[in-house]
Amino acid sequence: MAGPMRDGDSLTIELPATVRATLARLADAGHDAALVGGSVRDLVSGQVPNDWDVATAAAPEVVADLFPGSIWENRFGTVTVRGADGLEVQVTTFRFEGPYLDRRRPASVSWGRSLEEDLSRRDFTVNAIAWRPTNLASGGGVLVDPHGGVNDLGQGMLRAVGDPEARIGEDALRMVRAARFAARLGLRVEDGTADAIRRHPREAIGLSGERVRDELWRMLEAPDPERPPSTALRLLEDLGVLVVLLPELAALRGVPQDKALAGDAFDHSLRTADALPAGRPLLRLAGLFHDLGKATTLADGHFIGHEVAGARLAAAVGERLRLSRAESGWLTRLVRQHMFAYRPDWTDAAVRRFIRRVGADLLDDLFALRAADNAASGVAQPEATGLDELRARIEAVTASGPLSHAQLAIDGRDLTDELAIAPGPLVGELLDRLLEAVLDDPALNQRDRLLELARGWAEDAGAPTHQPGSNEGSGLGHGEAADDGAAATIGDPGAVPT
Ligand code: ATP
Ligand code: MG
Repeated sequence: MAGPMRDGDSLTIELPATVRATLARLADAGHDAALVGGSVRDLVSGQVPNDWDVATAAAPEVVADLFPGSIWENRFGTVTVRGADGLEVQVTTFRFEGPYLDRRRPASVSWGRSLEEDLSRRDFTVNAIAWRPTNLASGGGVLVDPHGGVNDLGQGMLRAVGDPEARIGEDALRMVRAARFAARLGLRVEDGTADAIRRHPREAIGLSGERVRDELWRMLEAPDPERPPSTALRLLEDLGVLVVLLPELAALRGVPQDKALAGDAFDHSLRTADALPAGRPLLRLAGLFHDLGKATTLADGHFIGHEVAGARLAAAVGERLRLSRAESGWLTRLVRQHMFAYRPDWTDAAVRRFIRRVGADLLDDLFALRAADNAASGVAQPEATGLDELRARIEAVTASGPLSHAQLAIDGRDLTDELAIAPGPLVGELLDRLLEAVLDDPALNQRDRLLELARGWAEDAGAPTHQPGSNEGSGLGHGEAADDGAAATIGDPGAVPT
């Protein structure tokens, strides 16, 4: 592609078969159809598109009829066509949105009449470029770029389509999207657009948690190490939007840190997120949030209990952003546990307690978070900080001793059968105590010894603990009889095999 392209220039594109077939079927049926949005933007700037969007004059039900097996997803009239190769093409009817009543979503969406109308309601000029095929067999077509998006791309500029003030007034999410796209594409937010955002950051208050979360997620997923999540987050801060969306994070600005690397707690948090893998946005979010508590706990140069305060704040943000329970729980646990301090003089029992406190499922991510936290502090790497040693010791004790109820030599069933304790909370309490005892002394993890311990505690607690008659006089050795009995009564504790 030589020289800057303009509206109406011809452009040849090598299309994936499914995209070509989709455009061809629409054209054959007599409907105007063009490639739009991110895919054209990426192609024009020499990148590989990650999704393919087609805009067409055909109404959604017409599109759905043309592509048997396609899925008509939402009220915005997007039909997803899936090719034999698994590639998905989103086909959306030209749109023209009605007035925005609440600055978040259009009050109504009506189908637009033309591609040009559709492009005019898109957010940024670089996203408002289309390619209309003229000869699909050869990949020939023309550029439709009424807002000068290709030129802006060339100038490194992210500019709102039309009047920035009005466009942001329609949908405040565009302020967040501005930071995301500018960061991801390496663009500068054009002055008029940036000024409009700086005048209205508080409009972002009304945005739904889901929409903000989805944009934040895409910032966190940034795969290019040259433009990590911090690029977009700093832009959000600079535009005045961060303090509105994530005041808890913005509050870390100016909170002093005594770290080898310069900067405040905000800089440190961004660096921590950047140091985590792109494929793990939730883990990156934990990196971003791990020190949230520092803004509220600073006293005499210390941040006592900041992991507890931070976990509370992270849970609140998680709820606001409508994270799933599982995501929010994971995030909160990571923040809560991130301050562990290993010392080589820990006993094996201490290592086991650590695993039990943190949860074996969290360990890998907790270690990744610590490594990133260290890197972001300018601290030496795993060998020097004992992380590797702790990891090795965890492996050793996990191989040798029980860490959860499941690994105890008895289970709740044994307690109810052998000690005739009624099923209930006492059973769980006894198992907890047994596990504590076994963590201290793995040699205790034998059926007879555990039952004996439990019997003593249950009696102390006033529970009747006589053995059921079934296991007496069975004629077998104690252990075998018990195993037998347990197996024979599964599903019906009252039944006694005779
Ligand atoms: P990505 O590769 O990140 O998916 P994209 O350009 O496909 O980039 P999307 O968020 O998937 O970005 O949006 C697809 C297209 O829809 C955009 O290019 C833009 O033209 C339009 N669009 C999406 N959201 C908005 C919005 N809030 N306001 C205006 N136009 C929007
Ligand atoms: Mg997209």
